[in-house]
Amino acid sequence: MRILVTNDDGIEAEGLHALVRACERVGEVAVVAPHHDRSASGHAITLHKPLRAFPARIPGARAAAWAATGTPADCVLLAVYALLEARPDVVLSGVNLGPNIGHDLTYSGTVSGAMEAAILGIPAIAVSVDAEGEARYEVAAAFAAALAQEVHRRGMPADALLNVNVPNLEASRIRGVRVTRQSARRYRSRLERRTDPRGRPYYWLVGERAAAEADEPDTDSHALASGFVSVTPLQMDLTHTALRAALEGWPLQDLLPR
Ligand code: MN
Repeated sequence: MRILVTNDDGIEAEGLHALVRACERVGEVAVVAPHHDRSASGHAITLHKPLRAFPARIPGARAAAWAATGTPADCVLLAVYALLEARPDVVLSGVNLGPNIGHDLTYSGTVSGAMEAAILGIPAIAVSVDAEGEARYEVAAAFAAALAQEVHRRGMPADALLNVNVPNLEASRIRGVRVTRQSARRYRSRLERRTDPRGRPYYWLVGERAAAEADEPDTDSHALASGFVSVTPLQMDLTHTALRAALEGWPLQDLLPR
């Protein structure tokens, strides 16, 4: 099994290194990752400047590795179309420092790396650990590597990917694995207004997660909070099926200028 590993925390991130080492136990690994932290870069790709990739080394691993100037999605494109001799069988993105649940998915570079693979028709897994500072990456990395084997064996529908979130617990304290759906977890965001040395205002986005009390038991956030690994199947098709049906009843033809 040929595995491509990427992330959004950058080539120097411990979570990436742990994932690469875990993947080397189950397959042949190559790494293309951003050369600095591209968290919250979403699914951006680079169109208006060159992409460069520099050889890199992953501590404790023998994998061929490159640090690239682009986003996680750029890294997957670079790997598949330029750097790798053979197309990967599975793409893993992570292990991200911090969960990717609810509305995080829209902003997440980690998830977008896996989405780019799904667009290219390659089975993909995004993996994150529910930690803020000290993270237990090894548990998440080992689970993701084992899941990659399962995905490789069983295959995945086109247009689909898996989003995995792992509690920041010792393996023996994790209660199990739940298949979940994306929660509606939101942030309480605000823009802090400050003044720069020249007296002009600038703004800095800050925010904390809103309370979890409304999370339903089948969601990613509820599983994590209960000590379970969350595995959410995602699809690239963003169509809202119920609203599509309702829209058929709107007088949209009448809105056209005549
Ligand atoms: Mn990140």
